Amino acid sequence: MQESIQSCVFKNGWLGKREKTLFGRERTLDNPEEMRFGIALERFTAQLEHPLPDAQWSGIITNIARKAFDTGMVDGVVTLHRSGEDHFFSKPVLALTPEEIYQSRGNKPVLSPVLKSLQAAFSKKLKKILVIGAACHIHTLRDFQERFPYLRDMDIYTVGIPCVDNVQRNRFHWILERISRSPDTARHMEFMQDFRIHIKHTDGSIEKVPFLSLPEELSNPNIFPESCMSCFDYLNSLSDITVGYLAARLLPDQNRQWVIVRTKKGKKLLDLVNDELKRFPEHGGWDCKKFVQGTADRIIESMKGLKTAYSPDRKIPLWLGQVISWLLYTTGPKGIGFAHYSVDFHLIRHYYFVKYQYPEQLAVLVPRHVRSILREYDLPL
Ligand SMILES: Cc1cc2nc3c(=O)[nH]c(=O)nc-3n(C[C@H](O)[C@H](O)[C@H](O)COP(=O)(O)OP(=O)(O)OC[C@H]3O[C@@H](n4cnc5c(N)ncnc54)[C@H](O)[C@@H]3O)c2cc1C
Repeated sequence: MQESIQSCVFKNGWLGKREKTLFGRERTLDNPEEMRFGIALERFTAQLEHPLPDAQWSGIITNIARKAFDTGMVDGVVTLHRSGEDHFFSKPVLALTPEEIYQSRGNKPVLSPVLKSLQAAFSKKLKKILVIGAACHIHTLRDFQERFPYLRDMDIYTVGIPCVDNVQRNRFHWILERISRSPDTARHMEFMQDFRIHIKHTDGSIEKVPFLSLPEELSNPNIFPESCMSCFDYLNSLSDITVGYLAARLLPDQNRQWVIVRTKKGKKLLDLVNDELKRFPEHGGWDCKKFVQGTADRIIESMKGLKTAYSPDRKIPLWLGQVISWLLYTTGPKGIGFAHYSVDFHLIRHYYFVKYQYPEQLAVLVPRHVRSILREYDLPL
C-alpha cells in the first residue's frame, strides 16, 4: 500500500521525466499528433480476422496475451477477471493458464487494483510477465520498475488501454440506471465515435443513447473519481503498445480497433498477432478546432463547480439527441480528427478541473504539452 502511494502518478505527475526514461526523450511540442497521441513507432487501425466472442472489441489485447503466454514470452499475465458477483466489476488476477487469460477479456468499467497481482508474480518468482492496464496502472508500474530491484530483474511487457470516465464501484449502477432503459440486461457499454453511448444487452440488441440526451445530473463533474478527472494520459503513453478504438472507422458489424505501437517490446507483442489482423491505414482529416472551441467555454464553466443542483431530466429529448448526434457524426471530425477532438476535449476538461478544484496540484500533475495545446485554443492558463 505504502509503495503504491509513493509511486502513484497523482503524487509524481503525468509523463514528464518518466516518458524521458522510457523513450530517451519527452514528446516533442513541434508535432501536433505526437503531442496528443504520445511517442509511437507505428499507428494503424485493425481488427482480428476472427474476433473473440465477448471481448470488448475484436479481442486484440486478449489475443496478444494468449500468444505471449503460449510462445513462452511471458509466464503470467497481470490483469482482471470479472468479480463473479457483478458483471461489470473486476477482481485482480495473475493469469497462469490459457483459460485464465481468455477469461480476462472484456471491459470492467470501474476503478480496479490491477497491480495487486504483481505481489503474486513476485511470490511465484516469475521472471517474465505481461501487465495489461490503464495509464494510471502503467505509470505506477514504471515507477515501481525504477524503485524495486526485483521488478527491474523481471522482463515486463505492457499493453495499455486508453481510458477515460472510469467510475467508482459504488457509483457505477447509479450511473448505468440513468443511462440505460434496461440496466439489468446491460452487458457491454462504450462511449462511441458517433456521439452516443452504445449499450449491448443480453438479447444482443444495442441501445444507443446520445451524449446530449443524458440526464443533466450526469454532467456533474463530481460523479467521476477525482483521479480520472485529473488524468492527462488518456492514450496510455507509457505502455509498450496501446490498443483502443478511438481513431478507428465505426462500421456496422465490424469491431475495428486503433493500435499504437510505442516501443520495441510493443513491436514484439504486435508481431505475435500480426498474421491474424486485417489492417487498415488511419483515416480522417486532422482539424477539429471549431468543434473543440464550440464546447470549451461550457466545459470550463462546468469545471468551476459552482452549480450545486443538477436536474434528473434529460438535457434534450432522446429523439432530438439522435438527430443532433447524427449531424455531429456526419459533419464532425472522423478517424484521427475524432481522436484529436476527444483527447483535447478531455485534457481541457481535466486541466480546468485541477485548476479550479486543486490549484496547488497544477504544477505537479500537468505535463508540459497540455499548456501548448491550451494555447492553440487561446485558453487561459
Ligand atoms: C473505463 C474504460 C474506458 C475506456 N475508454 C476508451 C476510450 O475512450 N477510447 C478507446 O479507444 N478505448 C477505450 N477503452 C478501451 C477499450 O474499451 C478496449 O478495452 C480496448 O479497445 C481493447 O479492446 P479488445 O477487444 O482488444 O480488449 P479485450 O481483448 O476484451 O481485453 C480487454 C483488456 O482490458 C482489461 N481491462 C478491462 N477493464 C479494465 C480496467 N477497468 N482497468 C484495467 N484493465 C481493464 C481486461 O481485463 C482485458 O485484459 C476504455 C476501457 C475502459 C475500461
